[in-house]
Amino acid sequence: MVVEQLESRDIRDKRVLKAMRQVPRHLFVPLSLRDRAYADHPLPIGEDQTISQPYIVALMTQGLELKGQENILEIGTGSGYQAAVLSLLASHVYSIEINATLAESARPLLHNLGYANVDVRTGDGFFGWPEKAPFDGIIVTCAARRVPGPLFEQLKEGGRMVIPVGETGEGQRLIRVRKLKGKAYEEEISLVMFVPMVGQDKKKD
Ligand code: SAH
Repeated sequence: MVVEQLESRDIRDKRVLKAMRQVPRHLFVPLSLRDRAYADHPLPIGEDQTISQPYIVALMTQGLELKGQENILEIGTGSGYQAAVLSLLASHVYSIEINATLAESARPLLHNLGYANVDVRTGDGFFGWPEKAPFDGIIVTCAARRVPGPLFEQLKEGGRMVIPVGETGEGQRLIRVRKLKGKAYEEEISLVMFVPMVGQDKKKD
């Protein structure tokens, strides 16, 4: 998986490649799909949700530019796989999942596999996790209409946010937002297809 899907594309961060080798992805997918766990596509994880394609997990993780000491916020815990990868690359990972069934299954899985620096809670990630802010990195694994204000506020000066934005059905853009002197600087990383962020993000302005 790492050689064919990641190194052959544009995943260059050595630490990210190492973490992708270490995390047992098959333990994060349903039993019936285990033989496809390392294939080059997303897979269903129940509750109408999916675990992202390995390449997208690596690309988003690389976009955070982690060195090891960071405080990270993830929106959309899902299976817990992305959180496990992040836990090997940062100091602490806070992950919010709006679907209680998924959160209640990811939490013990991460704990039992020894990813002790990950905290999972149920809630609407649109509002972030203010008690644990500010964050060096924020990763959003569901597509928002635009960057949620509370998440940008909770980003540290110099911090990075990797987030897919755009309406579902139309093309979504995976972007990196950097906070410099309190202002947002945006770069496009790729075009992607994510499940929509639900909750406050979809409410009328
Ligand atoms: N990172 C996950 C993939 C997540 S799929 C993994 O590695 O498996 C996207 C997830 O975002 C879904 O589980 C969905 O329930 C969740 N989600 C959608 N809207 C959300 C919101 N407002 N707050 C938190 N989680 C949300």
